[in-house]
Amino acid sequence: MTTGERWLEVGDRVFVRRHASLDLNCGLVVGEDACLVIDTRQHLGEATDLIAAIRRVTDRPWTVVNTHAHWDHCFGNAAFRPAPIWAQVRAAADLAASGERQRAVAAQQARDTGRDDLADQIRSAPIDAPDRLVEEHVELIVGGRRVNLRFLGRGHTDGDLVVEVDCGSGSCVIFAGDLVEEGNPPGFDDAYPLDWAATLGRLHGLVRGPVVPGHGAVVDVEFVGGQRADMLVIDRLIRESFHGSGDAADVNGPLPAASPYDDETTHLAVRRGWQQLRG
Ligand SMILES: [Zn+2]
Repeated sequence: MTTGERWLEVGDRVFVRRHASLDLNCGLVVGEDACLVIDTRQHLGEATDLIAAIRRVTDRPWTVVNTHAHWDHCFGNAAFRPAPIWAQVRAAADLAASGERQRAVAAQQARDTGRDDLADQIRSAPIDAPDRLVEEHVELIVGGRRVNLRFLGRGHTDGDLVVEVDCGSGSCVIFAGDLVEEGNPPGFDDAYPLDWAATLGRLHGLVRGPVVPGHGAVVDVEFVGGQRADMLVIDRLIRESFHGSGDAADVNGPLPAASPYDDETTHLAVRRGWQQLRG
């Protein structure tokens, strides 16, 4: 299921490291005199392992990007300081506001599955919110390389950042965070399912090469199109099952059409969508 924890070069000096832990992807972009790290893993121990792997590729100083505010992508941030850490403005605020709650929930989940060591490591991870903020778009030059950080609309959260790395000759590598997920259904816990398809449509329009999902194998433009189509089915399910007065219990009942996802995922998506419709 994993590639082993080696860097996979998916574009000119653009690397992905896919981890057995959570099947999480981190990125590394190597320029002339600087590098860029995309996402920092779920605690300082995993971040330290990531740093050792980065240092086997480059000794250049790094800048960091968090694709969004979920613990598994940013609880390693403190290990990368004093470097600047970029994120969408709402993601940075969300991490500052929800970090302690996320830490408690993730640690409890680890404990519930008998992984006390992991629980302790998550519990000791500092909450270190990003300090360089993107509203809609920022262009970074990293060691002479052009990297665009873009907010394309709400989807997996309200602050997902897409990292577009120019690889020359009209091609690019896109790090999509959890807007795109391979190997598992997308995560709807903090999602805006009624916006997600349109956001994926805009992402689809940017693709000129590989797309790195937040979790799972590297994908392509067809995969992004397929996930957008699935999200349109979810959108329809939400609207057709909503009658304005439905409460949270009704959402677990039969749905009006087949879902691309399992029941638990679908019901969570519908619940989140109904929240959007209620405003
Ligand atoms: Zn996430």
